[in-house]
Amino acid sequence: MTMVALGVPSMPNALSAPDTGPLVDTYGRVATDLRVSLTDRCNLRCTYCMPAEGLDWLPGDALLQPDELIRLLRIAVTRLGIKSVRFTGGEPLVAKGLERIVAATAALQPRPEIALTTNGIGLGRRAAGLKRAGLDRINVSLDTVDPQRFAATTRRNRLADVLEGLAGAAAAGLSPVKVNAVLDPGTGLADAVELLRFCVAHGYQLRFIEQMPLDAEHHWDRDTAQRADGVLAALQAHFQLTPDPAPRGSAPAELWLVDGGPAKVGIIASVSHEFCGACDRTRLTADGQVRSCLFSQREKDLRGLLRGGADDDVIEAAWRAAMWAKPAGHGINDPGFVQPDRPMSAIGG
Ligand code: SAM
Ligand code: SF4
Repeated sequence: MTMVALGVPSMPNALSAPDTGPLVDTYGRVATDLRVSLTDRCNLRCTYCMPAEGLDWLPGDALLQPDELIRLLRIAVTRLGIKSVRFTGGEPLVAKGLERIVAATAALQPRPEIALTTNGIGLGRRAAGLKRAGLDRINVSLDTVDPQRFAATTRRNRLADVLEGLAGAAAAGLSPVKVNAVLDPGTGLADAVELLRFCVAHGYQLRFIEQMPLDAEHHWDRDTAQRADGVLAALQAHFQLTPDPAPRGSAPAELWLVDGGPAKVGIIASVSHEFCGACDRTRLTADGQVRSCLFSQREKDLRGLLRGGADDDVIEAAWRAAMWAKPAGHGINDPGFVQPDRPMSAIGG
């Protein structure tokens, strides 16, 4: 997608969302990538995501049931032009019916690309089944390969399970397996170097994500969070990094070839180099709320419409209206920035 200069609506004369065609906002950005949170629950407690005691989980009847979700996925793909679907959470591997939902998504026409973001626990024994169900791509989150630091970051001693999950994903043919890392403000740069060595050795593609103000406890600190430029400099002291010549498109990661390739590393500078002008995403929470942005202050309640008996036309129009109101950018660097009420785990990262 081409970058859109934000600030001035590109369709100033259009008062409301178009009722056909692509899922578009007032800035002319088109959403083709849907992020679906399957649950807000998780079996880890990453410090930058949720508190040690967990959160007040959504009650079971608030969550979309698999059949409700599958209906929304059908509307997204067949009416709104969604071309790729990523399942996330919370931890999607603890959600009900993941394999069935993946298989139902794979049966849609035109078939969307299907991806999963997971912490990897339990993936070792489920990767092959997910691949058979239709999963195309996977991202496994891993911030350090040091067992003590892993336990400190996630508050659980589960590094071995995550490594088993990564190996299972590769063995199931979900390659290239991608690894997502959010770096610790203190030890992160040392972790980054070890993590890249590990990923290059195993053929996993590593991408660093700048920490964003989406933690439930509002502890994010702009001054201490690791920034893309610092991570790049730390890596360059140990590896030869050259810009990946492949076109980046709307992908948020800036990619580098490691020591001449074919290994690559990505850096997602979500805070320091905002890329909202190329955003092609729409989001659905586990309780059926459409969000046009991670940082939206507004949501559209599709679950209420579904359960109230709305037909597909009404749901489609509500989704289009939510997208139409997508903000220009996340605004993290604006003086008046307000962190959304929902933390990352309840939106779906
Ligand atoms: N539990 C799964 C996992 O960890 O991969 C999926 C959900 S998690 C919310 C999705 C991604 O968001 C993970 O890669 C995680 O590292 C990232 N994440 C969580 N909190 C974040 C934050 N405050 N800033 C940036 N990324 C964050
Ligand atoms: Fe769980 Fe993922 Fe949040 Fe870590 S980042 S606590 S694994 S939802």
